[in-house]
Amino acid sequence: MSATSRVLEVEALRARLADAEETLRAIRHGEVDALVVGAVLGQERLFTLDSADRTYRNFVEGMSDGAATVSATGVVLYANQSLADLVASTCQRIVGQPVSNLVAESSRARLSSLVAAEVPVGSVEAVLKTTEGHLVPVLLGSSSLTVESDHITCLTFTDLTSEREAEAALAHSAQHDALTGLPNRTLLSDRIQHALERRAKGPGLLALLFCDVDGFKNINDAHGHQVGDSVLQTVASRLTAAVRPEDTVARIGGDEFVVLCEELADIDAASMVATRLGSAVAMPISTRIGMVEATMSVGVAVATHGERASTDTLLRDADEAMYKAKRQGPNVIELFDEDLRTVAASRLQLMTELRGATGNRELRLVYQPVLDLGAERIVGVEALLRWKNPTRGLVQPDAFIPFAERSGLIVQIGAWVVHEACRQGAAWLAADGDGRPFTMSVNVSGRQLTPAARFLDTVRAALAESGLMPSALILEVTESALMEDAEAALRVVNELKALGVRIAIDDFGTGYSSLLYLKRFPVDLLKIDRSFVAGLGGNREDSAIVRSVIDLAQAFGISSVAEGIETAEQLADLRSLGCHYGQGFLWSPGRSAAELGDLLDAAQAG
Ligand code: C2E
Ligand code: MG
Ligand code: MG
Repeated sequence: MSATSRVLEVEALRARLADAEETLRAIRHGEVDALVVGAVLGQERLFTLDSADRTYRNFVEGMSDGAATVSATGVVLYANQSLADLVASTCQRIVGQPVSNLVAESSRARLSSLVAAEVPVGSVEAVLKTTEGHLVPVLLGSSSLTVESDHITCLTFTDLTSEREAEAALAHSAQHDALTGLPNRTLLSDRIQHALERRAKGPGLLALLFCDVDGFKNINDAHGHQVGDSVLQTVASRLTAAVRPEDTVARIGGDEFVVLCEELADIDAASMVATRLGSAVAMPISTRIGMVEATMSVGVAVATHGERASTDTLLRDADEAMYKAKRQGPNVIELFDEDLRTVAASRLQLMTELRGATGNRELRLVYQPVLDLGAERIVGVEALLRWKNPTRGLVQPDAFIPFAERSGLIVQIGAWVVHEACRQGAAWLAADGDGRPFTMSVNVSGRQLTPAARFLDTVRAALAESGLMPSALILEVTESALMEDAEAALRVVNELKALGVRIAIDDFGTGYSSLLYLKRFPVDLLKIDRSFVAGLGGNREDSAIVRSVIDLAQAFGISSVAEGIETAEQLADLRSLGCHYGQGFLWSPGRSAAELGDLLDAAQAG
C-alpha cells in the first residue's frame, strides 16, 4: 500500500471517528434518535425525530419490554424507557455505553455472541445488573439490521422476575408444608436418600425419629382448629430448635413430624435426641385460649454403617416404632432396631424413669459425717444422692449420674440436690444451739457449671430460701469437671465464691493437672481420693501421694479432707501426716436425714 493511500485511509477513518463522536453527542443530547433506523432506509445513517416514523417510534417507546439498538462495536445507540427502568438508570446514561455494562458478568459472553451474530439468534436468557447492583433475570431477544453497510442489532429485554418468583414459590410449595414451613414428605425422602448415599462413604449413624403428637385430635376437638394449628406451629419450631441446623425436621402429616439426624455417634445419641425432642415439646404451649400441654410418642429407626437401608424401610421402621410407643401410653420413646434395642432400651428406660424421678419424689439424699480428725468430732456432712425407684430399688449415683450428665438432666436434678441439702443443713444448724461450725457439702457435675445451667441462680435461690449462711455450703467439684470447659467453669466458680460459698476439689489426685487447677481456681479444700487412702500404710506410692496432697494443701494455705477412711490405722497415718478432716465407714456411711439427726443429737449430748 502506498503512502498516499495510507494517508487517505487515515483521513477517512478520522472523518468516521469525528462522525461517530458527533453522532454520540447528538444522541446524548436527545437531538437525534437512532432507533428508527429500520423504518426508512434513507441516505442518512441516523434519523432525526422529524424524519422518523412516529407511529413506529411511539410503539417502541411505549413497549413494556426494554428495547435497545446496539452498534456492531457493542455501543448502545438507543434505549427505551422500559430498559432504563429495568436497570434503574436513564435513557441518556445508557446510550453511548457498551451494552455489556448492562448485564451481569455471567451474561456478557452470551450477549456479545448475540451482538456479533450476522443472523438473528432468537432469544436467550440473561441477567441484567441494575445501577444499584441488583440482578434482574430477562429474556433477551435480538434481530439485526444493516444500515449503510453498518451492522446494527435490535435487542428486546423481557423481565422474568415475576415468572422466576412464581416458579420458586411453586417449587417451595411442592416441597414444604404450608402451615409450618417445614419440609414435607417429598423433600424429606429426598434428604433421606442423600443422607443414605453420604453415609455409605463415611462413618456414623443415621437416625430417623418419627414423632406423633399425643392426643392431638382431642386438642383440635376441644379448642378448635385455630388452636390446633398454633400448637403444630409451636411443635415445629421447638423441634427445629432442639436439633442441629444440619438436621432435617419435616412435617409429613397432620400431627406427624419426622426428624432426620446424620452422623450420630451411636444409638444412645439417637435416644438422647429423642429425649430432647420429647422434653422440648412437653413444655406448656401458649395459645390464644391459654396454655395447652402436649407430649409426643417417638419412634426411632437407625441405619448403621454397612447396613442396607432404604428411605422406605427406614421410614416404615420409624413409623412402626412410633406405633409401638403409642401403645405404651403418651410420652414414650421406642427404638426399632432389634439388636441395638436390647442394649439401648434398658438405658433409655432408665433415662425415661430418671426424667420422672424429681417429679415423683424418688430422689433422696443421704448424709455422711465429716469429722475433724484431731478431735474426732463431726464438723459437717456430705450430701450423697440416692434414687429410690419402685421397680429398681435403691440406685447408687454411679449407676445413674453419668446418664443424667450426658442427657443434661443433671442440671434439674442437681438443682433439687442443692435446695434439699441447704434446707436440711439450715435445719440442723438451727437445731444446734451451740452455734458450732457445721458445713454441708454438695457434689456438683461439670455440666452444672456451664453458663446455660444457671447454677449460680440455683445456689443463690437455695441459700435465700433456706436461710443457710453461704460459708456453711461447700460445693465439691472434680478436676475433670473443671477441665471440661475450664474458662466457663472458672467464671461460674468465681461467681459462686463471690456469694461466699466454699469450693472443694473432689477426688483430688485422680485428674491430670492438679497443680494447674489449684493455681487457677479459688479452692478452699482438697479432698484426697479414697483410692489413695485405701493404700495408706501398705502401699508406699499411695502413702507418698497422700502425703504430698496434704503438703500441697498446706502450701496453698487450704484444708485437706481424706475420703474413705475405714481403719484406725488409716486414721492414725492421716493424723500424723497433718490431714485436717476425714470421712469414711470407720465412723459412718451415708445415712438418712433422720438417722443422721439422731447421730448429731447424740454427739451433742456426749
Ligand atoms: P464422692 O463425692 O467422692 O463421694 C464419696 C463416695 O465414697 C460416696 O459414694 C460414699 O458413699 C463413698 N464412701 C464414703 N466413705 C467410704 C468408705 O469408707 N469406703 C468406701 N469404699 N466408700 C466410701 P456414693 O454415694 O456412691 O457416691 C459416688 C459418687 O457419686 C460421689 O463420689 C460423687 O462423685 C457422685 N455423687 C453423689 N451424689 C451426687 C450429687 O448429688 N451430684 C453429683 N453431681 N454427683 C454426686
Ligand atoms: Mg464428693
Ligand atoms: Mg470423692
